[in-house]
Amino acid sequence: MSSVAERLEAVRQRIRTAAERAGRDPSTIRLVAVSKTQPAEAIRAAYEAGQRDFGENYVQELLQKQSELADLPELRWHLIGHLQTNKVAKVASVVSAVHSVDSPKLARELGKRALAVAPERRLSASGRPWVFVEVNVSREPQKSGVAPEALGELLDAVEREPLLELVGLMTVPAGNADPEQTRQQLEALVRLRDAHGGAARLPELSLGMSGDLELAVACGSTCVRIGTDLFGART
Ligand SMILES: *Cc1c(COP(=O)(O)O)cnc(C)c1O
Repeated sequence: MSSVAERLEAVRQRIRTAAERAGRDPSTIRLVAVSKTQPAEAIRAAYEAGQRDFGENYVQELLQKQSELADLPELRWHLIGHLQTNKVAKVASVVSAVHSVDSPKLARELGKRALAVAPERRLSASGRPWVFVEVNVSREPQKSGVAPEALGELLDAVEREPLLELVGLMTVPAGNADPEQTRQQLEALVRLRDAHGGAARLPELSLGMSGDLELAVACGSTCVRIGTDLFGART
């Protein structure tokens, strides 16, 4: 099996190629390495190969790894999984970005607790955590994310929180979708962005996983979340 560093380079190359095909500047696409279920050593290896943004789905796991890897000064944690309001206090001072805000209540809670992260872990000059609103575009009942018709109200709620920085939208396409359905779901998110202020208000799109990276880049993703293709299959 190839090393994390080799896989990382291969994913970076995929991003460059996809950006080129889409006529985009590859430096506008951030790679978030999704490290859920992976040991801290794998994250350390990726960091040593230059990777700085890491995504975790579960609060407990994120905090555990954060304490094991506290010596890596520029590592930025992205929470990409569902966040319960009663867990907000635990992560609010640790994360550089939350990709999964899906209710006004969660936005208010996060807004009360958010703390600026250390300068070298910041995504924006202010140090305020980046907030993506997660949209349940595929309307699967078991999935988190705000319903498209409630998006406007939620965006307003995030913008009312002075300690949060609203940056964009996120979605996870249906797991069983074929490429055409996936494309429709990603495009639906782009249309929602256009309908709610466009790139001026929502400059970032958190779109794209191992299976749909190229499609996501073609749709305008600025933040791809890649797990399997970087770290291998999860056990
Ligand atoms: C696990 C996960 C990913 C990474 O998926 P891969 O297919 O392993 O690249 C991305 N986003 C979210 C929200 C995830 O839960």
